[in-house]
Amino acid sequence: MSEILVLVDHVDGVVRKTTTELLTIARRLGEPSAVFVGAGYEQARDALATYGAQKVYLLEQPELTEHLVAPKAEALAQLADRSTPAAIMLTSGAESKEIAGRLAIKLGSGVLTDVVDVEPGDGTVVATQAVFAGNYTVRSRVTHGTPILTVKPNSATPEPAPAQPVEEKADVTVSDRARAARVVERSPRTQTGRPELTEAAIVVSGGRGVGSADNFAVVEGLADALGGAVGASRAAVDAGWYPHAYQVGQTGKTVSPQLYLAAGISGAIQHRAGMQTSRTIAVVNKDPEAPIFEMADFGVVGDLHAVLPQATEEINRR
Ligand code: FAD
Repeated sequence: MSEILVLVDHVDGVVRKTTTELLTIARRLGEPSAVFVGAGYEQARDALATYGAQKVYLLEQPELTEHLVAPKAEALAQLADRSTPAAIMLTSGAESKEIAGRLAIKLGSGVLTDVVDVEPGDGTVVATQAVFAGNYTVRSRVTHGTPILTVKPNSATPEPAPAQPVEEKADVTVSDRARAARVVERSPRTQTGRPELTEAAIVVSGGRGVGSADNFAVVEGLADALGGAVGASRAAVDAGWYPHAYQVGQTGKTVSPQLYLAAGISGAIQHRAGMQTSRTIAVVNKDPEAPIFEMADFGVVGDLHAVLPQATEEINRR
């Protein structure tokens, strides 16, 4: 069976759900080989085995993580030269899209971004991509070189397929050019105790209608009552009320939770692009004509400053 290289997305060995999704999707094409860069593999081992990695390449050289993305692109290119995989898959994040682009140049390959599904075809990979802010899907294939695919988070439900991966320490060389930019400091995001936005089953998002940074407490209160994550529209982020890391939409994160609750958000196409695949969409907006109602499963026409605290109180009471 063909080998599919999957770049593992992890934080100190804690494997992100996006990687278990990638492994699930990669199995539609062949045998996934996980590429684990950095420290913490002991923590990651179980997750990679559970989701079907047949092989794990361990790249633990410090220079791969002490610099920005260039060394990772070089490392993947060297692995690809050695193992000639049928495809290389990464998650569709800002960092991995940059790695994908650099890698494609090195391998002389094509990249398909924002892939939501894959199937083998004509001796290559046929990918379904979400384009135009998720409003259309197109089927595409790379016609030259090893296909490089970045896969949108929440494109698959992770399905276990237990395996006993062969572990191989892989030595790669990192060029001086790739070391040109060095990471000098990492500032971990404040720990909120809430689930990661892209992985949460419930997301409560606030928009311009929230009115201020302090008022986001009502959004957080409801998210906490529901055990969910907090999101924000770009208007709220641009106003400085909530950090960009929580922005949902075309230029933010893509979420696909069981329940997405949008409060004080009008439903611009760029916001929809990041949440329209949510299973159930609930809306609180004081304007009954707000476009977001068109896509809502449930809607409350009302002031979020009254509705959200009432809902929080009721949920906490039960
Ligand atoms: P508004 O459109 O101003 O809507 C506010 C809503 O709150 C209104 O419907 C109003 O009725 C309601 N409201 C007001 N007060 C209350 C209250 N007290 N109670 C209840 N409801 C109330 N946007 C994103 O969100 N994510 C993106 O990633 C993104 N990327 C973009 C990329 C590009 C290239 C461009 C051009 C735009 C992008 N945008 C993005 C911006 C997008 O076009 C909208 O401007 C933005 O989504 C609007 O945010 P909003 O719905 O919070 O604000």
